[in-house]
Amino acid sequence: MDFKPDPYLKTFRDEVRQFLSEKLDPALTSSFQDFRSDRESLVAWQKILHANGWGGPYWPKHHGGTGWTAHQQQIFDEECNKAGAPSLDIFGHKLLGPAVNEFGDDRQKQEHCAKILSGDRLWCQGFSEPGSGSDLASLRTSAELKGQHYLVNGQKIWTSYAHEADWIFLLVRTNPEAKKQAGISFLLLDMKTPGISVRPIISIDQRHHLNEVFFDKVQAPVEDRVGNEGDGWNITKFLLNNEHATTAELPTLQAYFRHLKSIGKKLSYAGRPLAEHSTFRLRMARFEAEISAITMMVARVASLDQAGDHSPAAQSLGSLLKIRGTELMQSMSQFIVESLGEYGAVSYVSPAETSAKDALPLADDFGEFAANAFFRRAATIYGGSSEVQRGIVSKMSFQF
Ligand SMILES: Cc1cc2nc3c(=O)[nH]c(=O)nc-3n(C[C@H](O)[C@H](O)[C@H](O)COP(=O)(O)OP(=O)(O)OC[C@H]3O[C@@H](n4cnc5c(N)ncnc54)[C@H](O)[C@@H]3O)c2cc1C
Repeated sequence: MDFKPDPYLKTFRDEVRQFLSEKLDPALTSSFQDFRSDRESLVAWQKILHANGWGGPYWPKHHGGTGWTAHQQQIFDEECNKAGAPSLDIFGHKLLGPAVNEFGDDRQKQEHCAKILSGDRLWCQGFSEPGSGSDLASLRTSAELKGQHYLVNGQKIWTSYAHEADWIFLLVRTNPEAKKQAGISFLLLDMKTPGISVRPIISIDQRHHLNEVFFDKVQAPVEDRVGNEGDGWNITKFLLNNEHATTAELPTLQAYFRHLKSIGKKLSYAGRPLAEHSTFRLRMARFEAEISAITMMVARVASLDQAGDHSPAAQSLGSLLKIRGTELMQSMSQFIVESLGEYGAVSYVSPAETSAKDALPLADDFGEFAANAFFRRAATIYGGSSEVQRGIVSKMSFQF
């Protein structure tokens, strides 16, 4: 790929900034980007993007997207994050949408992809089950064909934002006799279908991101199966490769860096701002170098993807990116908490806690960081654990 600076990209960045200054309602913005914005802001922002023709920033034009290059997508993400824009529904944009466009039939493409673009349908990912996470192919949720629908029974776990999603894409076992992978199919299901229940799992940051989802004699229409029966594993491989690459979350790393800069200026140690201490500066220099390396890797993975390169080398790059990005995310979020000193002990200050805010004048700015650092311990697990990614890299490297 070409790393030469492109003057056109500067114009594009200006265009994105202009758009954000005109169209991003300040009521939707937040100075701290959490894992994901609340449903209301996320949908409102998606609708604004869609009205501007930017509803599919990661999709090619023939799929209804903007057709932006990898570099343009990176600039868009970066500027949105800087401006405090709400997040997008990554499950729809980066996982399900591309999979439906690749493997779905025309009706599925028209219905589901159009609703992702318009913000009218949010998705969640029903893959993991108790006992089937890394070893996903051992999943047991069953789908038995009964005429024009499947009868789905079983349980998913760690289903992020299932409580806010309209639909779920899930892996089910349609053929218990076949070899593990060959018996799996890929279904799309309306979360309002009778027999689906969602139970929250509150994580270490005391928030509700995660859920268990139970299926009790749920009727799933056959027309909402993507691909043929038994194609589920192939679709999953395509989709997980996208997931590994996206979990590097470059804009989050860039945001952490900005927050650290601000902490370095605002907080002092031994009578001098942190930013004037050599230990702090050294860590910052290392973070900056690592972010630059990851920025290039992200662009490289995205351009290979755009070129349709799914070779072993391209796949192992996605895994490498997942490992490097999430490990950096953890060390940066941890360093933020350390740099905050006593303020780092505040995991969350609610708007009602005026006394805490008086006692900790910086709590408004930094109150969320400890909670975030705790939650980010999961970054090396979700989207495929680091150990499993290392296994993929070593397996793929024999095929170069
Ligand atoms: C915050 C969060 C959000 C999530 N969101 C979703 C979601 O929306 N949808 C969804 O379907 N899933 C989701 N997951 C589940 C996630 O994909 C799994 O947790 C992950 O794949 C690991 O599976 P597991 O938890 O069953 O752990 P296990 O697979 O049981 O792994 C346990 C340990 O063994 C190690 N291990 C396992 N296999 C190997 C191997 N072959 N080689 C070396 N080490 C190995 C792992 O690295 C890990 O340290 C989420 C998880 C978290 C924490």
